[in-house]
Amino acid sequence: MKHGTPSAYNHGCHCDECREANRVRCLDQRERLKQRTIQGDPSVPHGTTGGYKNWGCHCVECTIANTISSREYYNAGKLNGEVVASAAAEA
Ligand SMILES: [Zn+2]
Ligand SMILES: [Zn+2]
Repeated sequence: MKHGTPSAYNHGCHCDECREANRVRCLDQRERLKQRTIQGDPSVPHGTTGGYKNWGCHCVECTIANTISSREYYNAGKLNGEVVASAAAEA
């Protein structure tokens, strides 16, 4: 098995080389998804935190979904409606 490749990581090797290869691959994928989002790819899951975080889509629907989940995560309402309101104003 060749170390320093994402497939080695997928086969269960989490040595430094393989972890780094996997990390870089994840960044690449995210960047590619972001480019597809910018180009208006219809498979972007709008209105989900995945759309916001994984695809880098900051449309109103994705921003709202992300705001709601952040709010749940922090459980104290640190994020208020301002994010959504400003996103809605831009759209
Ligand atoms: Zn390895
Ligand atoms: Zn979106």
